[in-house]
Amino acid sequence: MDRRTLLLGSFPAAVLAGCGVSSATQPQADNNEAAQPASDAAPPDEPITVPMTLYLVQDRADASGSVLSSQRTEAGLATIAEDMGEVWSQANVVFDPVNVETIEVPTDVLEAIALGLDTSAFFDQIGVSFDVPNAAAVNGFYVRTAGGVNGFAPTGSRVFFVIDEPSVHDERVSSHEVGHIFGLHHQLEDPGTLMFSGTNGTMLTEEEVVVARYTAQGVLDGAR
Ligand SMILES: [Zn+2]
Repeated sequence: MDRRTLLLGSFPAAVLAGCGVSSATQPQADNNEAAQPASDAAPPDEPITVPMTLYLVQDRADASGSVLSSQRTEAGLATIAEDMGEVWSQANVVFDPVNVETIEVPTDVLEAIALGLDTSAFFDQIGVSFDVPNAAAVNGFYVRTAGGVNGFAPTGSRVFFVIDEPSVHDERVSSHEVGHIFGLHHQLEDPGTLMFSGTNGTMLTEEEVVVARYTAQGVLDGAR
């Protein structure tokens, strides 16, 4: 299986609507709340171990100076991965091993994402004009900006994107996008849930735990 297939899974890469608008237009009501407690439900006994790589995405034309290069650090991404592990522990999903990589991507690929969440150039150019080392079962790409949303996960892929300054906690938007990779849809009722859009909720319902674990296992099986 080539690397692009690994990242995409078996579906074409259509793009989901993004999750949570950026701070410019988002009401701030939820942003100062502490993260919600995890569900009371006991996690399933058997851990599901999911290899994950987080990528610090830079503009190849001007890695440190470009308005399209992420201003994050590799240490920052490692911290996000740890905090994601806490959120997903309620489903007994363990991210391991975790790799952090810095990649340099052509400017036009980043512009397409920044302007409108268009990932067609991104997926087309993997392995052609830029490389994605250590592609894993779940792959997070940290970009400077993405069409005014906090993050998004292209449908049917094992890939999510998160911007530099989301309106919610970094680990929350990252964990939310992983929820989409694991087959979860938006919650519309309870802002305390992980899959409610644009809050710092982190709770998974019992049903979501079942679905996410089932889908995560499928992602692992497909990635082998
Ligand atoms: Zn979402």
